[in-house]
Amino acid sequence: MFKRLLLYLSTAAWARHIVTRWGIARHVARRFVAGEQLQEAIAATQELNRRNIAVTLDYLGESVTRAEDTQDVVETYLNVLDSIQREGLQSGISVKLTHLGFDISEELCVTNLRHILTRAKQYGLPVTIDMESTAYTDDTLRIYRTMRDEYGFDNVGTVLQAYLYRTEKDVAELVQENAHIRLCKGAYLEPPTHAFPNKADVDKNYVKLVEQFLAAKTNAYLCIATHDEAMIQAAEASIKRLNVPKERYEFQMLYGVRTPRQEELAKQHTMRVYVPFGEAWYPYFMRRLAERPANVWFFVKSLVR
Ligand SMILES: Cc1cc2nc3c(=O)[nH]c(=O)nc-3n(C[C@H](O)[C@H](O)[C@H](O)COP(=O)(O)OP(=O)(O)OC[C@H]3O[C@@H](n4cnc5c(N)ncnc54)[C@H](O)[C@@H]3O)c2cc1C
Repeated sequence: MFKRLLLYLSTAAWARHIVTRWGIARHVARRFVAGEQLQEAIAATQELNRRNIAVTLDYLGESVTRAEDTQDVVETYLNVLDSIQREGLQSGISVKLTHLGFDISEELCVTNLRHILTRAKQYGLPVTIDMESTAYTDDTLRIYRTMRDEYGFDNVGTVLQAYLYRTEKDVAELVQENAHIRLCKGAYLEPPTHAFPNKADVDKNYVKLVEQFLAAKTNAYLCIATHDEAMIQAAEASIKRLNVPKERYEFQMLYGVRTPRQEELAKQHTMRVYVPFGEAWYPYFMRRLAERPANVWFFVKSLVR
């Protein structure tokens, strides 16, 4: 119930206006966000790389409604790619279609995406198209497939969400296409017609999908994106039992979540951390609060102190 309230607030403009005006909220959000400036994200990436952890950099923002605002998004991503290349960082990028203008027009969004992918391909850097709410699932997978065919498998990946009933079928198809997939549980407010309402069912499905993906005799690549110890251990057991080579999978976590565990995993597996930066931190921050009640408590304590 509380989780659903926080997810509702993550999309409510009135709540965003109130919360983003509190200096303390910005301070607490810093736990999950590398900073508002690219330079801060680069410094965080350098630090993670020093600890043998790869990165995917995300310029925060979504649901853009003005075409001119997407120009800044593209420029920033091009700067991110130039910085990764110049500094020799072990990093790719993650993008959201609604940040690139999908809600304005698909043509604008795809044109923007092509600018970014062209630069990424030039440097040989991976781009992951994040998955948003179910309003965008079909379109995201369709655009992903088009871009993947245009730019190549090594450059473009996307995300599937284990909380959706449809994902089993999507995994079955994409694994045969040798796709590069990040599997997460899913972070949006979805109705029970589309998503398992109970955490236990989502967890069961996650474990099943990891096994389904890794057991397939294809070159599909799986990014196991979770902080859940039970999911991590089940994935490690599948990797061992199925004798899955390192070229077929990696683990992923979010910046600021279970940092010591990230370092431990990096000793045995490829480990990548999703590092967000930028000023539009509000919805991302609220989704992180929704995932863990203890984070809300930390936030409330900071407010009353
Ligand atoms: C690299 C990466 C990329 C992602 N990309 C997407 C995407 O494109 N689309 C999408 O819908 N979702 C995305 N997500 C979010 C994901 O869907 C989940 O909402 C999020 O990862 C929480 O699920 P969980 O698997 O960690 O397990 P949960 O069941 O939420 O949590 C299990 C345990 O992990 C720990 N934990 C989880 N979250 C936190 C936190 N915020 N702070 C502290 N501890 C925590 C706690 O111990 C918790 O009990 C991504 C997640 C990762 C790691």
